[in-house]
Amino acid sequence: MPDAPRMRKKTLDHLDEGKLRGTVVIVRADLNVPLHDGAVGDDTRIRASLPTLQWLRGAGARVVLLSHLGRPRGAPDPAFSLGPVAARLGELLGREVRFSDQAVGPAARSAVEALEPGDILLLENTRFQAGETAGEEALAKEWAGLGEVFVNDAFGTAHRAHASTTGIALEVRRRGGVAVAGRLLERELDFLGGALEKPESPFVAILGGAKISGKIDVVRALLPRVDRLLIGGAMANTFFRAMGLDVGRSLVEEDRVEMARDTMEEAGDRLVLPVDCVVAKELTGDATTRVVSRDGVAPDESIGDVGTATREMFAAEITAARTVVWNGPVGIFEMDPFREGTVAIARAVAEATDRGALSVLGGGDSAAAAEVAGVADRLSHISTGGGASLEFLAGAVLPGVEALSDAEESS
Ligand code: ADP
Ligand code: MG
Repeated sequence: MPDAPRMRKKTLDHLDEGKLRGTVVIVRADLNVPLHDGAVGDDTRIRASLPTLQWLRGAGARVVLLSHLGRPRGAPDPAFSLGPVAARLGELLGREVRFSDQAVGPAARSAVEALEPGDILLLENTRFQAGETAGEEALAKEWAGLGEVFVNDAFGTAHRAHASTTGIALEVRRRGGVAVAGRLLERELDFLGGALEKPESPFVAILGGAKISGKIDVVRALLPRVDRLLIGGAMANTFFRAMGLDVGRSLVEEDRVEMARDTMEEAGDRLVLPVDCVVAKELTGDATTRVVSRDGVAPDESIGDVGTATREMFAAEITAARTVVWNGPVGIFEMDPFREGTVAIARAVAEATDRGALSVLGGGDSAAAAEVAGVADRLSHISTGGGASLEFLAGAVLPGVEALSDAEESS
């Protein structure tokens, strides 16, 4: 498992604040927000980037900001322009954010040269460059050449070795500069790392969502560390099948049944599956549902949520916990008839937190579920990076973090 990254990598606190005035600092943030008709939708990720930017601005740095948005195919595509993000960021900071519609080349360089201390310049979408996702060295060099200090604050892409994340960090260091973690990245690693390193017991993890395939590595990595691993969502169906239960027309990953069986054997009573479920003939927003024991699913029914007995059982485990990690809704919470299981989990996690437990939630849909349940502000930490937090929980090294300067390194 990863040892304490917060101990090992430099952060903003390692920078000499007095020397930053007038220095060009390149910040890779995760400003990958949804756009609707050319305007920013949910601006959570922009807000999450503010602490680092405000700190740098306060120190008088000249800030060059890089981010990707969406999945343009390595070429300019107006539908994925960061222009609207620059405008929204400016509103949130209460000061204009400059925008360059070129991410590289002479236009980008002269926009950087024109920066005054405290100014922020957002360059166009990094993924308009063909070399970005391939981690191309020439592109990393181009960006690294813009400044002397690199700050990676893009936790959501830390699990990818791209030119603007890993490549640039290595290149800035090669040139004698320093590459540090921003406030958001630091906070994510503190909470996720803290939950994994020295979890106070009882340590309870809840995993749900649609697919076992994306999360089996997390199951495997968490099992030896947790006291209980509660499984819900469609993931549970594959385990039910492994137990020989008939799940009707429920979503099952047939090619993972064997894996589920092995995992159950290995886990013993640490792995807890639902005992009952909410079923319906059609999984729709106006479905007629019934609650059945897990061996009572009819051949023409599908499972859409965990049942009432399961909610009580899971809630009891969760509220008694001192450390809680949650990823994935335990039902189709987007639809009214299948919402209550996930809401019950969310409330239990909030209650545990009120009682002093450390709670960490990862995953975009889970974060939305916590909002729906009205408990988002009661949890210790909601991770902004779905894929990255899952990989971290699964014990993977995040290349965007690995590439940063070591805390012990002199510079
Ligand atoms: P996160 O984004 O938090 O990591 P996932 O993307 O893994 O979560 O899973 C969320 C999705 O899983 C939701 O869209 C939800 O509707 C779906 N889901 C949960 N339970 C079931 C179920 N029993 N059947 C089908 N889909 C389910
Ligand atoms: Mg999701």
